[in-house]
Amino acid sequence: MRFTEKVAKMDPQADCPFCRIEAKQTQSRILYEDEQVLAFEDIHPQAPLHILIVPRKHIATLLNLQEEDVSLMGRLVWVANRIAREKRVDRSGFRIVINCNRNGGQTVGHLHLHLLAGRRMGWPPG
Ligand code: AMP
Ligand code: ZN
Repeated sequence: MRFTEKVAKMDPQADCPFCRIEAKQTQSRILYEDEQVLAFEDIHPQAPLHILIVPRKHIATLLNLQEEDVSLMGRLVWVANRIAREKRVDRSGFRIVINCNRNGGQTVGHLHLHLLAGRRMGWPPG
């Protein structure tokens, strides 16, 4: 077994695509970063603007939030607002989405906000 496979077995975070982006082991187009949060372009954009906002800390799903993470969650939303203003989609509008588990459509097990903008969003979501 290769070393990286061993590490992945011991530590589920070692196999997390967003932890790899956070560690700069995978390339991404980063728009914002600070000591707690990272924001980068979604690799398969679903709107003209599609940004993912993630905590540096590995939190698997929204359900894994702890009380100590409450202000971190607010920071993720604050970063989304900041990017929406920078990208000048604040007035036209945007959508923030958090998918949770299978029926929610979550495919990556590291908490993330989707910031979607640049087109009219449908409701109800598909
Ligand atoms: P979700 O389905 O809510 O878990 O969203 C996961 C999102 O991550 C999808 O929109 C993917 O296109 C996106 N994604 C997966 N891998 C990468 C990556 N390496 N860089 C950027 N976006 C990614
Ligand atoms: Zn992770």
